[in-house]
Amino acid sequence: MKKMNFAILLAVCLMGFISCTEIDDSILIGHIKNVKIETSKWKNDTKGVYSLIHDDFGIPNANGIIDYADSIAKAHDVKFGFAIITNEVDENEWAIAKKMITNGHEPINHTHRHYCGHDVSWCPSQVWGVDDFDIEIDLSHQLILENTGITPLFFAFPFDQSTPEMISYLKSKNYLGARAGAFTQDLNPDFLNDSDTPYFQLKFYAHGPGVPIENLSKSASLAVEKGMWAIREVHGVADGSWGPIPKDDYINHMKAIQELQEKGDLWISPPSSVMKYLETNKHTSYTQNQVGTVLNISLMYDGNSDLSSEVTLVLEIPKEIEVKSIVSDTNEEIKYVKGADNTIQVNVNPAIVKALEVDFKYY
Ligand SMILES: [Zn+2]
Repeated sequence: MKKMNFAILLAVCLMGFISCTEIDDSILIGHIKNVKIETSKWKNDTKGVYSLIHDDFGIPNANGIIDYADSIAKAHDVKFGFAIITNEVDENEWAIAKKMITNGHEPINHTHRHYCGHDVSWCPSQVWGVDDFDIEIDLSHQLILENTGITPLFFAFPFDQSTPEMISYLKSKNYLGARAGAFTQDLNPDFLNDSDTPYFQLKFYAHGPGVPIENLSKSASLAVEKGMWAIREVHGVADGSWGPIPKDDYINHMKAIQELQEKGDLWISPPSSVMKYLETNKHTSYTQNQVGTVLNISLMYDGNSDLSSEVTLVLEIPKEIEVKSIVSDTNEEIKYVKGADNTIQVNVNPAIVKALEVDFKYY
């Protein structure tokens, strides 16, 4: 309703000819009809996603993961994946792994003994194959579960060498995905992932000796620019690992990605949470039903409830009104965040929350 009409109606109601509440409600009802809802491609309606994975947790040469990466990332609100070589981890390091998990980092299966997946001349250790799956996949899986309480869902191949048999076996063991697609040490948009990239062919960037340090932050920016998911393989920080990152460079990288995260452009997440988000999104549908000045949103989820996660609903709201409150079917007040262009973001797990009741008021 135009401002002038509203002013006339207001005058009429103030003179007592008609009820002001009724006018108020009818205008509000009209605006609520124009509320649009969608789920966002990436969590928190960000433009892109970045997953940093530190390989080789456990070997003394990669101790910078424990000594520096964990605390520096925590200070910058960054959560990463750490790929564990289980044969190398002692009791003290398992305790540290558990602490890192409480900081939000994800334990990743990086085999038990870190052998080569193929017989290639540059690979420094022996080759593993089908006969070793019980050790290199099952034992390492079991050790991570027993020592951290977390079921590993993601696999990182040593030396980035995999075979189709290995991938089939991981699928049969209920892994969600693996870093096993094409990779590069350069920056190239072809090595980003989209929401439909197969989880066992996830492409990635590898940071090794001689790779420009700027490429670390640039790959996160590229994900934002292209609206896609960048996965970055690194090793240790200020240690003897393969292509270690100097401590100051690591801090600068954390600052750069934290800034993108705080701007709302980048979601920084270990890989399994990204896949859970995508899967939950694919299996979630919703309907909206307006009853007077209340908008009811029903959520339907037909996926695996063990692997469900929050999805972000984005409500685009006419500029004349704003949300007063959101209450779930479990009678809980649901928090929401105001986004750009008169939108609000609501994170809900549709395996738990089945309906939302949204109340509005004038802006
Ligand atoms: Zn490795």
